[in-house]
Amino acid sequence: MVVELAPDAPLPPVTTADAEQVHDAVVIGAGVIGLSIALRLVLANSARRVLVLERDSVAAGASRGNAGAYAFSDIEPLASPGILRKVPRWLFNPLGPLSLRPGYLPTLAPWLWRFWRASQPARVSASTTAQTALNRLSAAATLRLLDAVDATSMLHQDGNLHLYESTSQWKASLRGWEARRAHGIDFEHAHGPHVAERIAQWQPGLAPGFAAATFVPGWATIDDPHQLVRRIAGHCASRSVRFARATAKAITPLSAVVAVQLDGGCVVFGRHVVIAAGAWSHHLTHSLGDDIPLETERGYNTTLPPGAFDLRRQLTFPAHGFVVTPVAGGVRVGGAVELAGLNAPPNYQRSDAMLTKAKRFLPALKVEDGTRWMGFRPSLPDSLPVIGPARKDSRVLYAFGHGHLGLTQSAATAEIVEALIAGQTPTLDIAAFSPRRFV
Ligand SMILES: Cc1cc2nc3c(=O)[nH]c(=O)nc-3n(C[C@H](O)[C@H](O)[C@H](O)COP(=O)(O)OP(=O)(O)OC[C@H]3O[C@@H](n4cnc5c(N)ncnc54)[C@H](O)[C@@H]3O)c2cc1C
Repeated sequence: MVVELAPDAPLPPVTTADAEQVHDAVVIGAGVIGLSIALRLVLANSARRVLVLERDSVAAGASRGNAGAYAFSDIEPLASPGILRKVPRWLFNPLGPLSLRPGYLPTLAPWLWRFWRASQPARVSASTTAQTALNRLSAAATLRLLDAVDATSMLHQDGNLHLYESTSQWKASLRGWEARRAHGIDFEHAHGPHVAERIAQWQPGLAPGFAAATFVPGWATIDDPHQLVRRIAGHCASRSVRFARATAKAITPLSAVVAVQLDGGCVVFGRHVVIAAGAWSHHLTHSLGDDIPLETERGYNTTLPPGAFDLRRQLTFPAHGFVVTPVAGGVRVGGAVELAGLNAPPNYQRSDAMLTKAKRFLPALKVEDGTRWMGFRPSLPDSLPVIGPARKDSRVLYAFGHGHLGLTQSAATAEIVEALIAGQTPTLDIAAFSPRRFV
């Protein structure tokens, strides 16, 4: 049975009944993280009365237009010694893979300092181990979630192909691949005289001249991330999860319940409250005394209509920081990171720059009639999410900061948060994701 909310169906306002009853759980944010949690809570019977608060619409944030990849092999943090070497050359190129708006530098400086500290080898190693464990749980949990929402057929387990234009580029990537091998991740390199034939088997129609490629089989994509989140929302609604359009302003733990103050002066109550508000979550943790260094890595893409290219699987162009993905019946070209905060207007020239490069690599790509999009990745300096209780009160749980891997890790995050709400020990050691790791 397909249960799906209509695209951008308006959410109802908070009612008097919502304000009068105590919910078992109030979830703030209707992105892939918040809704996966809401669904898991009702499926596992850990909460029967669940209220989801969303200030906009279902999947209004990063969960709407992302690249749709279950990037289970993406285990290394962005802050690595390798990236720090490239940063100076990238940073002030407004159309490069990683850019920074100069006016935002003073605001960003404390985060960058933590990012630099996170790139120290011992910390990279610890983050990689934690990310591997979370991604491993995610791979199994994703199948459980997709099954629960009848979306297994939306998953394409076609792997991912990384493409390198020079041998030196490929060689520079080998350390990262060996780190993945050490964590049990499977891949195949192609390099040498027959590289062109091997690449053409994985993806015909690429421009000639790629010096090497690496194929990762354990990588999957979803037909359309927005449709998936709508599907999860539909299944939540069919199990009596209530949705209300409201902006949460502050959270106050009281003796018997936790109060959530909303814009307009209304208050709702929950036995548990989950903050899953993506890149805006730290605005809410302040009211609980937790100062979490959440930033946004803004990302851009263009979705081309069906028929744009016969794409067999997701392609990654690591030197350029973007991917090309079969998604939404067409092709989505995008990625990159822009450090410019939550308020600066989008610079869609970044989408256009990636599309131009994609056309160079895929000469038959039809680049007309695309739709451009920008999303706010919620990112911590060590590339790990925050999953765990607030310092002041364990009835408030945090589930945000998944950076480039929010879709990938959504189902595992939901299982962990549900276990915490049920008073059980999660199947995974969550110390590395603690909100307290930044003190
Ligand atoms: C270009 C791009 C490509 C990406 N590709 C991938 C990929 O291939 N694979 C992958 O795993 N990840 C990918 N990501 C990352 C992924 O999209 C995010 O990590 C994920 O969507 C975060 O989900 P979320 O639910 O935490 O946040 P969001 O989807 O942003 O949802 C947060 C919600 O909270 C709401 N909200 C905020 N504040 C409040 C408040 N005070 N009260 C009520 N509601 C509030 C917002 O309106 C929003 O709807 C990509 C991101 C980008 C930008």
